[in-house]
Amino acid sequence: MTKAIRIHVHGGPEVMKWEDVPTPEPGPGEALVKQEAVGLNYIDVYFRTGLYKAPAMPLIIGQEGAGTVTAVGVNVTHVAPGDRVAYAGAIGGYATDRVIPADRLVKLPDAISFQTAAAMMLQGMTAQYLLRRTYTVKAGDTIVVHAAAGGVGLIMCQWAKHLGATVIGVVSSQQKAELAHAHGAAHTIVGAADLPTEVKRITGGAMVPVVYDSVGKDTFNLSIDSLAPLGLMVSYGNASGPVPPVDIGMLAAKGSLFLTRPSLATYTAKRADLERAAADLFDVVANGAVKIKVNQTYALKDAAAAHAALEARKTTGSTVLLP
Ligand code: NDP
Repeated sequence: MTKAIRIHVHGGPEVMKWEDVPTPEPGPGEALVKQEAVGLNYIDVYFRTGLYKAPAMPLIIGQEGAGTVTAVGVNVTHVAPGDRVAYAGAIGGYATDRVIPADRLVKLPDAISFQTAAAMMLQGMTAQYLLRRTYTVKAGDTIVVHAAAGGVGLIMCQWAKHLGATVIGVVSSQQKAELAHAHGAAHTIVGAADLPTEVKRITGGAMVPVVYDSVGKDTFNLSIDSLAPLGLMVSYGNASGPVPPVDIGMLAAKGSLFLTRPSLATYTAKRADLERAAADLFDVVANGAVKIKVNQTYALKDAAAAHAALEARKTTGSTVLLP
């Protein structure tokens, strides 16, 4: 037997149960990974509450981890037993041992620890596609990043600065503003209520070519009103709740705007894209441009407390769960 956090019903953090589960066996194309560290992400909350649909119940939530391959099924070519590996975007993460499609695993460079890997694979590859593909951030761009002191946020601030951009980071407290500033946000705004006015002031009226909005319902309209004509609204999360249906005519009236709702799953669906995203991330971490901040660790069995802290906006940077 092994141990895992499972949910049998949707609900608050209390629905997560630390249970004995049979040791899984890798089928064709799969690998068994003994996990040394598991990543906590906001998407875990969405699967727990039912905002995102569970594939089946009971469900082992969690999308990210790092550890050592202990066995492989037939037709596995990417990895072998003994390899240090990490992954993001494959549900079933909150477990001491898990099986996973082997083509979702990437080998970890020796210099990257299991904890750092579990903290960065999902949030860091998200930052990679948002900054390098959804919109190609260029030197001289001024961009808005919401939840700038969070897991994705701190990585975005550092990486965007490294690309030569000026980051306007939105946060909910002065303490978080200082943290975002220390990690590359040139400007910080506490509270989003005056976002368009502040963006107008900071940009001298030009507004911004892109807003990265992970907060959703509470900030969508404020983000739209912060864009320059032909600007791109990237709505990539729902921390405050999902965005209600949008009247696309509004995009014309507000300056021929573009709107996208991207997901890491699409951007890393092809193995080549996954490898590119991971390699880019390993590069910026190895050269020191991006530092991964593991600001909270919990025992995996205490995942409920970690969820409560994340939802109460008490965390900064990344959180790792230890099996
Ligand atoms: P964070 O560490 O950023 O935590 C969420 C943060 O959102 C909070 O700390 C808080 O920052 C802010 N927030 C604003 N309003 C609320 C609210 N009502 N309740 C709770 N938090 C709120 O989490 P992650 O780094 O894991 O994820 C950040 C976001 O990015 C999430 O929305 C997630 O779903 C999304 N995401 C999307 C991906 C994609 O591919 N589409 C992939 C990865 C993440 P503050 O207190 O400063 O406001």
